[in-house]
Formats: sequence, structure tokens, C-alpha cells
Amino acid sequence: MSTTHKAHCLILPYPLQGHINPMLQFSKRLQSKGVKITIAPTKSFLKTMKELPTPVSIEAISDGYDDGGLDEAGSYAVYITRFKEVGLDTLSQLIQKLRNLDNIYYHVDKGVIKLPPTQVDEEILLPGLSCTIETSDVPSFVSTPESDILVEMLVNQFSNLQKADWILINSFYELEKEVIDWMANIYPMKTIGPTIPSMYLDKRLPDDKEYGMSLFKPMANECLNWLNRQPISSVVYVSFGSMAKLEAEQMEELAWGLKNSNKNFLWVVRSTEEPKLPKNFLDELASEKGLVISWCPQLQVLEHKSIGCFLTHCGWNSTLEAISLGVPMVTMPQWSDQPTNTKLVQDVWEMGIKAKQDEKGIVRREVIEECIKLVMEEEKGNVIRGNAKKWKELARNAMDEGGSSDKNIEEFVSKLMTIS
Ligand code: UDP
Repeated sequence: MSTTHKAHCLILPYPLQGHINPMLQFSKRLQSKGVKITIAPTKSFLKTMKELPTPVSIEAISDGYDDGGLDEAGSYAVYITRFKEVGLDTLSQLIQKLRNLDNIYYHVDKGVIKLPPTQVDEEILLPGLSCTIETSDVPSFVSTPESDILVEMLVNQFSNLQKADWILINSFYELEKEVIDWMANIYPMKTIGPTIPSMYLDKRLPDDKEYGMSLFKPMANECLNWLNRQPISSVVYVSFGSMAKLEAEQMEELAWGLKNSNKNFLWVVRSTEEPKLPKNFLDELASEKGLVISWCPQLQVLEHKSIGCFLTHCGWNSTLEAISLGVPMVTMPQWSDQPTNTKLVQDVWEMGIKAKQDEKGIVRREVIEECIKLVMEEEKGNVIRGNAKKWKELARNAMDEGGSSDKNIEEFVSKLMTIS
């Protein structure tokens, strides 16, 4: 799209919190370089937003369920089918704009990984991945597909990628050199991340402190005041992002694991998850050492000097935010790309440790306690904490003027300007 004055980008975020956040930050960066931005969320998604971004314009599109989106549809299958019918034109653009980091979906498309993988502990070596992965490290959409249409949508992204002029990835070159080099032989891929507000990467820059387009209302004062009272590097920050639902048994194990670790903890429990907390946990067990809140300003929390460890589901945004702010991780992946992100965090970037599940799929309290202590206290944790500092520095460098992501963004903007 173009105007007489400057390039104009229409941004089509997939209607989930974890997609809106990086898209919005990238949009702001483009805007700061003179590109006009219009963001196009679905109407149903826009209705649920508790915070709206100020400097960009918004044009909502229809997914066929303008009142309740996915919830109204009742299942991915029904939702996606209707979205295809109603928003066919925008859908093809939307799919191209989806985050295309996942080497793995490409190999499903090309038949290297069969769907679903047959052997439980099958070892898989993929070009561009610097470690061997097992079936359990593969995204859950592939290893345990719950909806054929969702897998089809993810895999089909690759059928359109050949037509794209640019594929922009929310990562940075130094973090994923091998896979980016390998994929760049096939697709015009460029890294443009981490797409977090610039002020977290360079203190001299004025910027918004948060993403500014949130589905939940953050309890900012309550949690920041509490963090201000805690000693340096003493707090475990716990969050499972905007979607994951834990089993009540897992919530109980986690609660006891945190309590038994004897560390201070800040735990984000969304209001729909709160009934699963053990009885009296909030009043009796958590009151001395912990604070449980329904949503927080995560970047401000991760940046806070009192935070010593992030117990995370390893959603891609949370992972990249922890990397950018140098916070070591204990990981408890739930679904989607989280098992793969966990594998990289532990075995490639060596910036965290996975808390392993038992045969019932539950991470037990002893394991949680042990992992937290390892990351925060022990000798082995020194390496992890050292690597966290290293990756933070490299993330900053990538976005700094002349850094790998900054150069790609500059190149993209100049191209846009010439097209316009
Ligand atoms: N987040 C937040 N406050 C919270 C928990 C999460 O602002 O209390 C943000 C977090 O910073 C991240 C996003 O929500 O940008 C979650 O995205 P992610 O990809 O980590 O997980 P998803 O929600 O997609 O599972």
C-alpha cells in the first residue's frame, strides 16, 4: 500500500495476545522510521482489549464471529472454517504474516517429520538445528495434534511463503544463526527482533513501558510495590502466559514447589485459573513469601532487580523477553511451540533448565523446588546466570544502531519507501 507521502503497512495480527504484542512493537518501530501503520485485529478480539495502543491506527476485520471469536465458534475447526469463508482475502495475508520461525513446520510440510511421529522417543536431526530433538520436543500441534485443521493451517503457511518478498522473524541472528542461515537459502527471511519496547534495550530512549494492547488489566502498582520491598535477585516470577490452562493437580504441585523452595515468588494466576489454587493457599501459604496476581506488566517485572528466576511456560514472547532482559529460566512447557523453545533454552542457549514431568505428565513439587534452587543458588546455576547476561547483551546489540536486526529493519524500510 502507498500514500503520496510514505509507505503504508497494513498489519494483520493473529488474534492472540502473544501475536499482537510483538506485531505492535514492530509496527511502532516502523512508524518511528516514517512508515504509516494500520493494525487490523479481528472485531471480536478488539472488543476484548483492556488497553489500546495510542500512536497507531486500527481497522478491525471480521472473522465471522464478531461477538465472541473462537469462544463463540466453540472449536478451532469451526472457527477456522468460517474465517476462511468470511475473510478469505485477509486470511491469505494473515497467514503470510504469521510468525514463521518454525523450521519444524517446514519439515512436516516436506515429509521429514511424519504426522504425528510414530515412535515415542524417536530422535530427529533437522538441518539448521544445532541439537538433536526428540518427539517430545516437537511442537504439540505436530506431536499430539488436537485439530487437523489447525495443523493444516500451520503447515500450509509454507505453501504461500514462496510468494512473499520478505519474511520478518521476531528473533535475532546471533540467537539462531544456523537455522536462519539454513532457512534463508529457501525463503527471504530476515530477523527483526526482539520486538520489545525500545527503552528496555536502550535506557536513553523514551518509550512506552508496556506493549499497550492487552487482553488483561495489569495489577501494576500492587506488584511493583511488592517487588520494591524484596531483596535483589530473590524472587521467582511465575507465569504461564495468556492461554495455558493447568490441571488442578499441577497447580497444587506448583504451589507446594514454590513454598518449599523457600524463595519469594510473584505468581500470575489468571482469574479463570484461580479456582484451581489449593484451598487457603493465598491466605496461609503464600502470604509471607508470595504474591499472587491476575496479570502483571511482565516486562517491568522481568526488568526488576529483585527478580532472580522466571518459571515460564516458554511461550515465544516470554522466552525472548527473558533473553532480552537477562533472566534465567525454569521451564514448564505446556503445548504449541513451547516444548521446542524449552529445548533451545536448556540445551542450546543454556539459559535455563526444564522441570521434567512424571509419567502422568505432572511436574512434581520436588522437581520444581530443585530446579528453582539450581538456577538461583547452585554452582551449575552460575553458568546459566552467566549465559543470561551474555544473551541480554547480544539481544541489545542486535537492535542497536547497525546491529543485525536494526540493519534488516532499515533495509526493509528503504525497500518499502522505494515501492511507495
Ligand atoms: N504477559 C503480560 N503479563 C502477564 C503475563 C504475560 O504482559 O502477567 C505478556 C508477556 O509479556 C508476553 C505475552 O503476555 O508478551 C505472552 O506471550 P507468550 O508468547 O509468552 O505466551 P502465550 O500467551 O502466547 O501463551
